[in-house]
Amino acid sequence: MSLTHAPRPLRSVLIANRGEIACRVMRTARRLGLRTIAVYSDADANALHVREADEAVRLGPAPARESYLDIDKVIAAAQRSGADAIHPGYGFLSENADFVAACEAASIIFVGPPASAIAAMGDKASAKTRMFKAGVPLVPGYHDEAQEDELLREKAGKIGYPVLLKASAGGGGKGMRVVESDREFQAALDGCRRESRAAFGDERMLIEKYLTQPRHVEVQVFCDSQGNGVYLFERDCSVQRRHQKVLEEAPAPNLPPALRQQMGDAAVRAAQEIGYVGAGTVEFLLDAASEPVSNTETREAAPFYFMEMNTRLQVEHPVTEMITGEDLVEWQLRVAAGLPLPKAQEELTLTGHAIEARLYAEDPDNDFLPATGTLERFGLDLKAGDLAPDRVRLDSGVEAGDDISMHYDPMLAKLIVHGEDRGQALAEMDRALAALDISGVTTNRRFLQRLVTHPDFIAARLDTRFIEHHHDELF
Ligand code: ADP
Repeated sequence: MSLTHAPRPLRSVLIANRGEIACRVMRTARRLGLRTIAVYSDADANALHVREADEAVRLGPAPARESYLDIDKVIAAAQRSGADAIHPGYGFLSENADFVAACEAASIIFVGPPASAIAAMGDKASAKTRMFKAGVPLVPGYHDEAQEDELLREKAGKIGYPVLLKASAGGGGKGMRVVESDREFQAALDGCRRESRAAFGDERMLIEKYLTQPRHVEVQVFCDSQGNGVYLFERDCSVQRRHQKVLEEAPAPNLPPALRQQMGDAAVRAAQEIGYVGAGTVEFLLDAASEPVSNTETREAAPFYFMEMNTRLQVEHPVTEMITGEDLVEWQLRVAAGLPLPKAQEELTLTGHAIEARLYAEDPDNDFLPATGTLERFGLDLKAGDLAPDRVRLDSGVEAGDDISMHYDPMLAKLIVHGEDRGQALAEMDRALAALDISGVTTNRRFLQRLVTHPDFIAARLDTRFIEHHHDELF
């Protein structure tokens, strides 16, 4: 069905982002026959996303707050170029309720949820209150309004150490601290509050039981404006560094089908509770034993707990696309045009296994310091890696000859592979990483290779402290 005959005709879309995600969104928009409009800062005047768009509008100087984060400038660019819709990508303005309201005021379609749904999930404490009401399981903890130091300390003692202090307004792993004992509590609280005040201008805290070996398993949900909601299975993103994802895979290894369904249902319930529309991700902690379970059919359901909902398309959405064969950006654009979800739950199937590795311009041997320079070579040699083109994907926002600057996130690209099973996908990823043809800028490729060939990763002995626990073997 054409998007021009949709209830809210869509002929053009402005992508309020840069890098790989801007390019990725444009690829689908183009395929659907939409006119694509890029925006850029001075640092990105010659960037790939600008070169690939039908039209490009300058926002301002390099700093994000004067360009990609400037709501007025983005709206003005959309108006000037006559864009019907704005796709925010991830990061920047994608989860900014004020930006959604500004789009509404300017009669521009925001490709994403309503402002009210973003606001409902934007604050971790109020999100947990809503989720509790919807019957979604929560990590044991405290997330009420009263914030006196002594009260929080008392709550932490009741929850039982170790606990995790989290900034209610937090995100991106900031404003979070593990507290091992009552003795450390006050200092940790002061530190967390300071950090949160500086990063978010807010010092409200919540406390959670700190799970020592959880897995991070998140469910991809999708809702349309007719009230339908589905889940497109889950991703395991347990391999993290400083609470930031490094490898992601779908489906989650050794997840019993009954548990998959339970988590999927809970995620759809979470989304519907807040009147969600579009693509969203409900993140859970899975408190599973670290030993892999061979007989997945008979395993007792392990407990899973709601952590937060990300109200946008995730960086790691391609692994879901690989195992479902669906194009999530197409789904987003259709839903934004007022069309119903393309498929019902029972029409969605899961095939094979997909893994994504995030390729960063950074130096793992130098505390992951971001690297800069000119990319002399950049590409993937399919032949050298013995890789089938339909089973591997390199989503990137750069090309050979590009300058990698310090201004933005140092992620260069995402490498995604799809195999018949996890073993095959892992072997493909190993070959694909070796077949990356990069020079000129230091990357984390070697680190990624060590990760995907680590015996414990191959055996799916996953938990969120995987990198920390295997530090000596990975560096
Ligand atoms: P942010 O919004 O800053 O990303 P999250 O609440 O999503 O913070 O948590 C980020 C990561 O921190 C999770 O993926 C997980 O690895 C870890 N984490 C969060 N809550 C807990 C918890 N209660 N116990 C153990 N680890 C946790």
